Amino acid sequence: FEGGLVFSDTDGSDDSSEFSGPVPVVAVVGRPNVGKSTLVNRIIGRRQAVVEDVAGVTRDRVPYDAQWNGRRFTVVDTGGWEPDARDRAAAIANQAEIAVQTADVVIFVVDVTVGATDVDEAAVKMLRRSHKPVILVANKADNQNLELEAVSLWQLGLGEPFPISALHGRGSGDLLDSILAALPPTPPVIEGTPRGPRRVALVGRPNVGKSSLLNRLAKEERAVVDSVAGTTVDPVDSLVEMDGDIWQFVDTAGLRKRVNQASGTEYYASLRTAGAVEAAEVAVVLLDSGDVISEQDQRVISQVVEAGRALVVAYNKWDLVDPDRRIFLDKEIDRDMKRVAWSIRVNISAKTGRAVDKLAPALRKALASWEQRVATGALNQWITALTQGTPHPVRGGRAPRVLFATQAGVAPPRFVLFTTGPFDAGYIRFIERKLREEFGFEGSPIEISVKPRK
Ligand code: GDP
Ligand code: GDP
Repeated sequence: FEGGLVFSDTDGSDDSSEFSGPVPVVAVVGRPNVGKSTLVNRIIGRRQAVVEDVAGVTRDRVPYDAQWNGRRFTVVDTGGWEPDARDRAAAIANQAEIAVQTADVVIFVVDVTVGATDVDEAAVKMLRRSHKPVILVANKADNQNLELEAVSLWQLGLGEPFPISALHGRGSGDLLDSILAALPPTPPVIEGTPRGPRRVALVGRPNVGKSSLLNRLAKEERAVVDSVAGTTVDPVDSLVEMDGDIWQFVDTAGLRKRVNQASGTEYYASLRTAGAVEAAEVAVVLLDSGDVISEQDQRVISQVVEAGRALVVAYNKWDLVDPDRRIFLDKEIDRDMKRVAWSIRVNISAKTGRAVDKLAPALRKALASWEQRVATGALNQWITALTQGTPHPVRGGRAPRVLFATQAGVAPPRFVLFTTGPFDAGYIRFIERKLREEFGFEGSPIEISVKPRK
């Protein structure tokens, strides 16, 4: 982001990771100087100008985290939109269009002291094409006479104009109320309501100790044989209490009955793994610490990652590892696990019960990462700093840039980067590594997709 930007601090009360539900995006568009950034400041409740008021300096899209009546949303300030702009101004206009495409609601700002111009009319055409809900704001309605002027903006065909004074605050509460009303409904976050048990897949190649672990858990902790009130549990699943919670180990009937152990070909084993992983939210991949990691082990891990499930890697039979060898084994494991360096690891023994109590906290942590959400404002401020510090290598004479980033979903976390051109796989890996350094996501795969501007 070039231009005279001054990023504001992130909201101190940012508890985005606890917020479960998509954060809607509101884009503010309009010609230069109609008062967009003044309005954005009004919405996010800051007196200080977010953007330095330098005449002739345009700016790129900047998202901020906002809140009104307990509802969170992201507000995206855009540079002035001009339809036939060239060069840099064209890029800004293009970004305003991207902002509109990625928004849930658009606020279109018109200067009521000027009235609707040709440029405003052109913007309306663009907004119509987007099929997004648009709130028409007649800004600079500082007094009652100007408020009446707003009526003339009906001619734009966007419905009732909202007269406000972003500078003095007039009408801004009502505007915020109607922004909230226009936002897509979010599923209510009901706190303290018990959901069903978390679903766990216990997977790994034959003989790593899956049945032994399940038996150990069932013995040491309490196996819950009957169904738990309010849940429906498949008869092939096992309910096990660990560390105060009930967990649903999916598709474990075969493990308990030890059927077809000998006849189970690798093909069927892998189908079975796929089924269990699909039904689960988090997988425990069991490995044998006495053996080198085999291709079959790697395949099981890949199945979990590709299915987008949270991952805990348990090194079983740790009791068999010579204490002198443990330190070297740890290093070996780090190397073997480089591809999934983000996974959570526990070294256990199903036989002696060693560290089996570490399993439940590891599962909880992996699931929390799996459902973690980064607020759009915080994400963009971080990625702007990162990509300015270490830009993408030059491709075809230019270094492609990130225009806007958003977390499109959770379970697993999915990020979308809108960019000026295609990104190298290596640079995306770099972003993922840094994203994890900054925001964690331990125990969960994350997806990053890049959408180059057309
Ligand atoms: P942007 O380019 O659309 O982001 O516009 P700015 O927010 O930078 O505002 C442009 C100019 O209009 C600034 O000098 C603001 O102080 C002024 N302005 C913004 N809102 C109002 C308003 O409600 N009333 C008046 N009188 N001036 C305003
Ligand atoms: P599964 O095929 O993955 O279900 O593996 P099993 O639970 O049948 O275990 C295979 C063999 O490993 C059995 O002989 C177990 O007794 C043994 N085993 C399992 N866990 C451990 C462990 O933690 N330590 C040791 N020493 N042996 C284990």
